Amino acid sequence: MSKVQHKAKKSLGQNFLNDQNIIHNIISKARIKPDDQVIEIGPGLGALTQHILAITKQLTVIEFDRDVIPLLQEKCQDKGDLHIIHKDVLKVDFNTLYQEKKIKLIGNLPYNISSPILFHLIGFSHLFKDMHFMLQKEVVDRIVASPGNKNYGRLSIMLQYHFDCQGLFDVPASAFTPAPKVTSRILRLIPYDKKPYIANDYALFSSMVKQTFQQRRKTLRNTLKNMISDPQQLQNAPIDLSRRPESLSVSEFVQLTNFFES
Ligand code: SAM
Repeated sequence: MSKVQHKAKKSLGQNFLNDQNIIHNIISKARIKPDDQVIEIGPGLGALTQHILAITKQLTVIEFDRDVIPLLQEKCQDKGDLHIIHKDVLKVDFNTLYQEKKIKLIGNLPYNISSPILFHLIGFSHLFKDMHFMLQKEVVDRIVASPGNKNYGRLSIMLQYHFDCQGLFDVPASAFTPAPKVTSRILRLIPYDKKPYIANDYALFSSMVKQTFQQRRKTLRNTLKNMISDPQQLQNAPIDLSRRPESLSVSEFVQLTNFFES
């Protein structure tokens, strides 16, 4: 009944899940236990929320759309204790939500701002146990891509630096109301306790990845000569600079940054 009352807002990426099998599969893959501290991003009309709440009995959700909140409360009222933060997730400081236990994040994310959300979350990765998100399949393909693959780029490197990234399963457009124009996919991100490669100067690493991929057809040398003033350093680089950025692994990017940082 609630769904009839709410007109989905395209500007907020509102595509509500309607397929119970898919909903149960997402909840099961998220491996939520009664004593987990869970935060859901974009609960909407509560398709996932009510099932999470049934397990944990208490749940924090972050929702930007004021109009869905009464419907969400109605849907969840007898399931447990729902704490609603009415805010843009991009403005949420997750440090203020941390309570003793690492947080499990879950969400069917608004696709129009999924990359900004992921970059925002990187800043709090040490607070998270794991994350399970619904995204456009194309975005998940970019995140998990390997060097040399056409989907490999800045998003792959920056997320793979922080997280073990796993694509889990596809979700057809028919599982949503209204149906999006694209296929979706579930992504699991697990922050590394100990990162496999560490950039000594993270800001340099991040800006080098950004700048080289802004000109992904150029060789590394062509882009880096504008960033590194000392020609000797370019000469001695531990990576062949006639390569293009899309051919470098995360480890090689870190190696290159650490060389220039030193
Ligand atoms: N979880 C629901 C479901 O699966 O049916 C809704 C998912 S819908 C794809 C995305 C949700 O994120 C909507 O409820 C939308 O209002 C909310 N949203 C959009 N932008 C947001 C933002 N900046 N911060 C928090 N929530 C946002």
